[in-house]
Amino acid sequence: MCGPGFLFTIKQEFPPRTSRITLRPLMKLKKLVKEAAETSRPFRVTKGEDFRLKDYDPADTGGLKDKDKAINTLKRGVKLLSHLQEKLYAQDRWAVLLIFQAMDAAGKDGAIKHVMSGINPQGCSVTAFKAPSQEELDHEFLWRAHKAIPERGKLGLFNRSYYEEVLVVRVHEELLEAQRLPKELIGKDIWEKRYEDINNFEEYLTHNGVVILKFFLHLSKGEQKKRFLERLEMSEKNWKFSMADVKEREHWKDYQKAYEEMIQNTATKHAPWYVIPADNKWFTRLAVAAAAIEALDSLHLQFPEVDKEKKKELAKVREALLHNKE
Ligand code: ATP
Ligand code: MG
Repeated sequence: MCGPGFLFTIKQEFPPRTSRITLRPLMKLKKLVKEAAETSRPFRVTKGEDFRLKDYDPADTGGLKDKDKAINTLKRGVKLLSHLQEKLYAQDRWAVLLIFQAMDAAGKDGAIKHVMSGINPQGCSVTAFKAPSQEELDHEFLWRAHKAIPERGKLGLFNRSYYEEVLVVRVHEELLEAQRLPKELIGKDIWEKRYEDINNFEEYLTHNGVVILKFFLHLSKGEQKKRFLERLEMSEKNWKFSMADVKEREHWKDYQKAYEEMIQNTATKHAPWYVIPADNKWFTRLAVAAAAIEALDSLHLQFPEVDKEKKKELAKVREALLHNKE
């Protein structure tokens, strides 16, 4: 996907603005960005106060009915994402962090795989956050995530994140005990404090050029059951099945409440939540890619300009190479 042939395709589709034959492809590109914005915006939450999870339907497909057409749009979207990421890397000013949170089997892995499918591996990282190690438990809760924040020029994806600290740790309060915090710091307001810490952390990152998008893949309980059964019935999916996932399902209501409250308290303009319907995988992937496209496009990324001196130097090198017979 990332070889020279692929770059050639991109060059043809997205030639520089100065070329006279670029008008049609450029219009197409603008149309795709506009479509991306229209697809993802209805699911963006920038202010949590009035947020209610029940207002979002996990089976929503944003008015799109034609799955094949959507899959084609996703393919074009992934190419565009790859082009934007090249600029992000070359410009080396901004970093972009995409956070994925969801119940089991909601399709985090698939969404991440699709967003990444055209991306230059040198410019990105994926970090999965599992139950913390002893070393991680010995530090404050943002420690392990802070170390994994993408560097300037890079795209970072978190498969789960520090948000687990107000989700699984809230649903299973014994996990909080395992963190061995001083007793006097564990009051009723511990979750409010964590929201505040997270908001401050994200604001700090934003002030330092890290653009944050947070995705909650919103799955229905019925669809989860269907996917679990598939994992049991299809041998190639057996490895994905875990008894622990079924146990977590018993806490469905508590999780939904924790997600709702998390979004109410941490949806901000600078680090919005996207509540992405997850019952139809094809739409989930399209909506995630669309949100990423819109965010990257809004940065007006540019390849670094080569100054006159450098251009002269490059012309000389070119001449020398052409005249060298070896
Ligand atoms: P998949 O099941 O698709 O492979 P996953 O993200 O569910 O991916 P698992 O290894 O099944 O990966 O689960 C990781 C587990 O780690 C989750 O149950 C999650 O809630 C838990 N976890 C993550 N962060 C923390 C945390 N800070 N404290 C306690 N548990 C955590
Ligand atoms: Mg799991």
